[in-house]
Amino acid sequence: MGEGKMKIMKFGGTSVGKAERMHQVSQLITADNEQKIVVLSALSGTTNSLVEISNAMASANKNEAKQFIEKLENHYKEFVKSLLKTDAALESANKVLQEHFEFLYIILKISFSEALNKDILAQGELLSTKLFCIYLTEHNIDHAFLPALEFMTIDSYDEPQVGTIKVKLSQMLKQLGEKKLYITQGYICRNSKGEVDNLKRGGSDYSASLIAAAINASACEIWTDIDGMHNNDPRIVKKTYPIEQLSFDEAAELAYFGAKILHPASIWPAQFYNVPVKLLNTMEPTAKGTLITEKAGSVGAKAIAAKDGITAIRIKSSRMLLAYGFLRKVFEVFEKYRTSIDMVTTSEVAVSVTIDSDVFLKDIIKELEPFGTVEIDSNQTLVSVVGNEIEETKDVMKRLFDSIEPIPVRMVSYGGSKHNVTLLIDRQHKEQTLQLLNTGLFGL
Ligand code: ADP
Ligand code: ASP
Ligand code: MG
Repeated sequence: MGEGKMKIMKFGGTSVGKAERMHQVSQLITADNEQKIVVLSALSGTTNSLVEISNAMASANKNEAKQFIEKLENHYKEFVKSLLKTDAALESANKVLQEHFEFLYIILKISFSEALNKDILAQGELLSTKLFCIYLTEHNIDHAFLPALEFMTIDSYDEPQVGTIKVKLSQMLKQLGEKKLYITQGYICRNSKGEVDNLKRGGSDYSASLIAAAINASACEIWTDIDGMHNNDPRIVKKTYPIEQLSFDEAAELAYFGAKILHPASIWPAQFYNVPVKLLNTMEPTAKGTLITEKAGSVGAKAIAAKDGITAIRIKSSRMLLAYGFLRKVFEVFEKYRTSIDMVTTSEVAVSVTIDSDVFLKDIIKELEPFGTVEIDSNQTLVSVVGNEIEETKDVMKRLFDSIEPIPVRMVSYGGSKHNVTLLIDRQHKEQTLQLLNTGLFGL
């Protein structure tokens, strides 16, 4: 089966959120003759609505949950009417809606659980792909449906394994036979218990990259609502511009440090299997976008990203002086609670680390206290300046620190890789910091 020749095209929520967008997607995926796997997200807003429904159910607020379901159902009824024309297509689509909304109404009657929550969250991608396939059939566009729940899996550590995905996916492709287009869901997967699960919010990018790695695709195209990775967060900073070329390392740092255009983990599969990633704009398909490959292209600072919801923990120990094994003991506590550390800084008497999940914060503090004084700063933001060989671009550091002169900085990290300088600031200074850095580093 055409291994190595297929292309992945992933379309995000806004790219499938309206009837005319789905129409546009059908044109983009049939624009050339290459064989493709098309990965779709849920319609924009749907996953947020499903989260609302789940939250209402979790807090036993069934009436509220029911109202949210009704609202979502009405939205889909209207969507289907605007998407499809023929009676046959409308009938198939209404059957799909009935099936999925009946499921949500039934859930109202059973007791809520974490497994059920995952089932609820999966409805968005199940709906978008099924409706899109009906649309393709209505327009006589030949395709095959590739259910993600049959090949996308995560292990008992919630990690996807490309090898396992590859075996399952190849078998399915073989069974389905040669097709120009395969349509599948992003985001959803099965966990090691066989339950429906997901790759976390924004996970469709991750799905696309994992599939690209598994079939050794010619390219992994991420189609979204903006013309590529910008040099700064366009939702916050007024003047930003798209970056034509990034290395995998740079893109991975930007994604990890909060550039919403890419899921934090979405680069490694493509990088490991050396599949070029392209970020493209569904609304403006001829725009250059961003090409991500092994090559960096140029040196210097390229972009800034920010990640909120960070907690900083400082452990002060008078005994740390010359004490080997201290850091290991500290890190072991985080490992025990499966909480990953984003940033670390050390001094002779203290170590500071940051985490982006405080689910186990209380337990972690309790276990750290025997080592010394533990101080917590919550509501922090990581701001990362990403680029290539930053240390060789002499004035970058000067311009960086000169520009943020009015901002109190809690932590600074540099040297872990050649690709970033990371600052930790209080969340309240985020907007100002991003703007100041935009001026200082990019003259904007
Ligand atoms: P999709 O639904 O297609 O996955 P997302 O909303 O997840 O789209 O990601 C695209 C959005 O990411 C853009 O509309 C933009 O607001 C936001 N974004 C944040 N930082 C950046 C950045 N550095 N470059 C481009 N977009 C960014
Ligand atoms: N629909 C999911 C979300 O909104 C996955 C995605 O869009 O990538 O998080
Ligand atoms: Mg996204």
